[in-house]
Amino acid sequence: MDELKKKQIIETLSKRVKSFVCPICHQSKYSFVDGYSVDIIQQQYKGLQLGGLIMPKVTLVCNNCGHIDSFSLGVLGLIEDNADDSDENNNE
Ligand SMILES: [Zn+2]
Repeated sequence: MDELKKKQIIETLSKRVKSFVCPICHQSKYSFVDGYSVDIIQQQYKGLQLGGLIMPKVTLVCNNCGHIDSFSLGVLGLIEDNADDSDENNNE
């Protein structure tokens, strides 16, 4: 994740969520995970389907209890049309 994208994500989250409070321990100190995570969307629950849909997200971790919260990049409006061409997705 480049610094510009990271800044864009943090700014968008900060605008939409006025204060982050951990639902488990009620502390408000979070760390931003420097990278993307994905959920794999499957039509069956048995086994692992490759090549299907994914839901990209960013993750915050509570610094006190380790509770993890994820936020959809799509809902935040941060998925670009040509995202597959970005450097982060180049596996070679
Ligand atoms: Zn917590």
